[in-house]
Amino acid sequence: MKLKQPYHAFPTSMTQVFPIKKSEKPSIFLYVNMNLVRLLKLEELLTQEGCELLSGFETSWDMTPLSLAYSGHQFGYFTNLGDGRATILGRLKGFDFGLKGSGPTRFSRGGDGLVPLPAAIKETLYAHALSSLHIPSSRVLSVTYTHHNAYRDEVLPAAVLCRLMRSSMRIGTIQYASKYLTSNETIQCLDVAIETLWPSLQTVSNKYEQFAMQCMTNWAQLVAQWQSVGFVHGVLNTDNVSLAYETIDFGPCAFLENVQLNKAFSSIDVYNRYAYAKQSEIIRFNASVFLDAMVSVLKDPQESVEEYHTRYLSLFDSTYHKTMETLSAKKLGLNKPDLELWNQLLNLCESLSLDFTQTFVDLTLNVSALYGKDERLDAWLKLHQKRVHEEGLNPKEREEMMLSVNPMIILRHDLVNTIIDMCLDQDFSLMDEVMEILKTPFDLKHANHPLFKRSMSDIVTTCGT
Ligand code: AMP
Ligand code: MG
Repeated sequence: MKLKQPYHAFPTSMTQVFPIKKSEKPSIFLYVNMNLVRLLKLEELLTQEGCELLSGFETSWDMTPLSLAYSGHQFGYFTNLGDGRATILGRLKGFDFGLKGSGPTRFSRGGDGLVPLPAAIKETLYAHALSSLHIPSSRVLSVTYTHHNAYRDEVLPAAVLCRLMRSSMRIGTIQYASKYLTSNETIQCLDVAIETLWPSLQTVSNKYEQFAMQCMTNWAQLVAQWQSVGFVHGVLNTDNVSLAYETIDFGPCAFLENVQLNKAFSSIDVYNRYAYAKQSEIIRFNASVFLDAMVSVLKDPQESVEEYHTRYLSLFDSTYHKTMETLSAKKLGLNKPDLELWNQLLNLCESLSLDFTQTFVDLTLNVSALYGKDERLDAWLKLHQKRVHEEGLNPKEREEMMLSVNPMIILRHDLVNTIIDMCLDQDFSLMDEVMEILKTPFDLKHANHPLFKRSMSDIVTTCGT
């Protein structure tokens, strides 16, 4: 297995070679994503040596893993961060293979560089749930145990994740380069991003402009996709927004159950900055931070900073609007978009404490289940039915359209906690079962699946770092 290391082309002040350690006791695989192993033909990793490699220990594989510096706006404020508990083994088959929880690095800022097992399980589950919903996401290839503990509020077993990402670069990577390094060094980083993510652009004269435009389009699409399934990322700092526009860094994330549009689930997000309904505004803010970091490369001398921002952000706005229109219309079973009707339904769901996913399942398969709960909802349903009749779409086609975007199941908060408790008791059976079912969230056979019933507890999540 030969891994490439594109980040060796980075300015050296942004990198740290990862000090590979010798293992004292053999590491243990706790979880392996066999689908990814088969898909990417990684069977040779399923050995003790592979397990040590995926745990950050010395092996006969020839590689020089790196950790990277980055900055980030965390809760709106600029901070210096970096791979404090991550290292990139290298690149293979279109993915960065990175470890998370493999120990401290130059960027750890006093942290232990570890990931407690609950956080590792959570990331594995949510990354799988999102990608099964066809939403771009990093993936977890493996979770290993190295006989270490993570000391948090309680003593927890530590785990090492092997995470596959289309790129390890974030908005914060460009922020770091533009704040501390030269314009040429910022360009050096961008060249790596283009080479790894979009090689055909390398010879194009306005490649940086095109790359930034692509970022605007894809970030807007990504956040609209999250909104369409009720996903709340929970910590949308600029360091957690990938230049490869996939969902990364699962901390206090959750899917909406009881619809709460403006409430954050993260226990530390006291101002509800990262609530469901704020996500597009926040990603837009993050996109503008990216544009600030790119100003020396992208801004036309003739235009003002404001004009420069508008030139890019207008693409973000129109793409977000269009994607939300398309996805919400499909979810409602309409041909003609109607964001007002969509927003009315979400507000009704909130005031009636309805479950986000189940509401759309009922609207698709059993609309009578929604009638009789509240006069306002009945009125909305009648209006909706009227629109459906006016459009006159063939009912079969309409149902197919709705089934393609309304999942029968999503990952439930209580279920995640039960799985984590069982894994802490060394029982991974429920995790395996749920990972299998989650592969096909749109399959009709999962409607009303007992494992995926609505959580009893309120969603409060922590980063669990
Ligand atoms: P996150 O909230 O996971 O996105 O992490 C934010 C920043 O804190 C990143 O730079 C991480 O590398 C760093 N970090 C989080 N947890 C730890 C830890 N246990 N040890 C060292 N660095 C950490
Ligand atoms: Mg992060």
